[in-house]
Amino acid sequence: MLTFPQEDIEVFRQFIREGSFFALTCHTNPDGDALGSTLALANWLRQMGKEAVVIVPDMYPDFLQWLPGAQDAVRADKYPDKAKLTLSLADVVLCMDYNTPSRTEQLEPFIRESKGKKVLIDHHLDPEPFCDVSFSAPSASSTAEIVFSLIEQMEGASLLTFEAAECLYCGMMTDTGAFTYNSSRPEVYAIISRLLALRIDKDKIYRRVYHNYSEGRLRLIGYSLYEKMRVYPEQKAALIYLSKAEMAKFQYVKGDTEGLVNMPLQMKGIVLSCFLREDTEKSSIRVSLRSVGNFPCNRFAEQYWSGGGHLNASGGSFDGSLDDAVAHFEEALKEFKP
Ligand code: 5GP
Ligand code: MN
Repeated sequence: MLTFPQEDIEVFRQFIREGSFFALTCHTNPDGDALGSTLALANWLRQMGKEAVVIVPDMYPDFLQWLPGAQDAVRADKYPDKAKLTLSLADVVLCMDYNTPSRTEQLEPFIRESKGKKVLIDHHLDPEPFCDVSFSAPSASSTAEIVFSLIEQMEGASLLTFEAAECLYCGMMTDTGAFTYNSSRPEVYAIISRLLALRIDKDKIYRRVYHNYSEGRLRLIGYSLYEKMRVYPEQKAALIYLSKAEMAKFQYVKGDTEGLVNMPLQMKGIVLSCFLREDTEKSSIRVSLRSVGNFPCNRFAEQYWSGGGHLNASGGSFDGSLDDAVAHFEEALKEFKP
């Protein structure tokens, strides 16, 4: 099990003891780990008799709607005043699954200005020191794993509910591609065993997340692989690129292209996959990068896509047209020295 310095645990314990109103935040485009870890901790805090409000910068994908408590999350893009007020009133602000407040976009100023005690719980590299106490573990499979470990270290695991266990399992599962990467530490399975003891049905959770495609989504994947994938054998790379119009043709809803960037890595010999899509909310291009082995996606993202992330999974954005982004990718590919 991950363990954190006892003095930090004591600080967190004190915040929990002295606080009554907790605001929990996660990054924009919440994924299964961001939302799952946040909802789980909120659930646990409520078991401790605290008031806990979850704030998401924007909508989470459809396949996470079933997460217990997701329906009550405050959407900051829809209710900015409520998000702002909640953060200004909070005794404690929890910063979940992000290493810098800029990852929460419009929440950033409210988080920075909040008078509440700030606690970071995250597994991204290089956390910005903006919190009163930070539980950062880049080696962790997921923020959900850190949440479980923290609760365990604070001797609070007896208050974990079935609902919180479902949320934690979802976080660990989605951040490891259903335990296919970043998940070889035995602790991961020790935690899963504890969650199973709370009677979660892991197969049901898998199906809810991965087997709930609309017809449009499955056809969009087929179209992307058949018509919109370029392969660069020399650079061991592949690219998929989609316009808004193409996505609309397949009745795109948010989350429909989740996981698409991983698919080219199923080809023998491919070590880098890039997915470019026109942002449905902004006039820029969203960039997703995945790699296998030691190809540094994060350096590639920093250098060419104003982004960052992990060694094998990064993201960023590009200002310009989709065609320009494709050209930029091809240039970058020639130039970049991994
Ligand atoms: P995704 O491709 O799923 O959107 O993002 C994968 C990972 O890349 C995220 O977990 C996050 O660590 C990182 N990431 C995505 N977008 C950005 C970005 O715009 N800036 C930075 N610094 N990291 C990003
Ligand atoms: Mn995560």
